[in-house]
Amino acid sequence: MPLVSMRQLLDEAAKGGYGVGAFNVNDMEQIQAIMMAARETKSPVIVQASRGARKFAEDLYLFKLIQAAAELNPDTPIAMHQDHGNSFETCKSAIDLGYTSVMMDGSLKEDGKTPSTFEENVTVTRRVVEYAHPRGVTVEGEIGVLGGIEDGHGAGGSGLEHVTDPDQAVEFAERTGVDALAIAIGTSHGAYKFTKKPDGSVLKMDLLIKIHNRLPHTHLVMHGSSSVPKDLQDIINQYGGKLKETWGVPVEEIQLGIKNGVRKINVDTDNRLAMTGAIRKVFAETPEKFDPRDYLKPAREAMAKVVAQRMTQFGQAGHAGDYSPKPIEEMAKGYANGSLDTRPSLVGAK
Ligand SMILES: [Zn+2]
Repeated sequence: MPLVSMRQLLDEAAKGGYGVGAFNVNDMEQIQAIMMAARETKSPVIVQASRGARKFAEDLYLFKLIQAAAELNPDTPIAMHQDHGNSFETCKSAIDLGYTSVMMDGSLKEDGKTPSTFEENVTVTRRVVEYAHPRGVTVEGEIGVLGGIEDGHGAGGSGLEHVTDPDQAVEFAERTGVDALAIAIGTSHGAYKFTKKPDGSVLKMDLLIKIHNRLPHTHLVMHGSSSVPKDLQDIINQYGGKLKETWGVPVEEIQLGIKNGVRKINVDTDNRLAMTGAIRKVFAETPEKFDPRDYLKPAREAMAKVVAQRMTQFGQAGHAGDYSPKPIEEMAKGYANGSLDTRPSLVGAK
């Protein structure tokens, strides 16, 4: 099966009332782990690569691995997404390579650190939409600024400094025509999200609900949504790691988000923790081993277990065969004739 448009995956998720995890990849083992989990749970899949990942894996290696995943798993719809594009050029290079979805994160300037102005964000995101949609490619934008830093990308902070303003979200959707919108509701990137179990004072679910009510046709995206489970932290620390105590986004909060318009949930840290814990365990228990396969295989299995768990929790499990993937050329036609347009003024939202 060729790679599928992320928009189609998210439209189907909206119809079915479930969310789809977007899992970051940097290498073959992580891609295989996601595909193992997808086969086991019969889930549609969003695989995403950050700029850091594309650099680490030399772009073409990573993309060819995704194509191999698509070829080897003909029954699984797979969308390939650029995570946090920092400029038009980054997004264009992903689209030209064959990615079926891109995120233009115009909430930050091109340095990936400094918050930009609303107008700058609209201008660069609109430019990406104008390049992507005629090619059938999905665009995710971001409004408000997430906290934390990952892969050198992020404004830092707690995630509460620049939460999304609902009026701005509506204006942004109207002026850019994005398919999906990442919003800042207090989540942040990386392992150290919260110093206590998050409650209503740190995670603004009421804000999310408000935005969804005003933008019912724009798929909402939750970033920084690893749960950072204690058992994964414990394995690392048990085998010589030194993680400080930390909390992620509880799965129940994500599920509440999914009930209120969240269709894409970004998860990276949990998979990193799972792999690192499994590798540390092998090193600690069998220090005589030196074949990379001896620790990469358990690492891959540990990640597959976490991914399968999230696929089940987000509700995407069992939905891989619900629909036939449309070629992205057909998506391009849908954008051209307006049937895929989600701008609030055109779809009757207010
Ligand atoms: Zn993110």
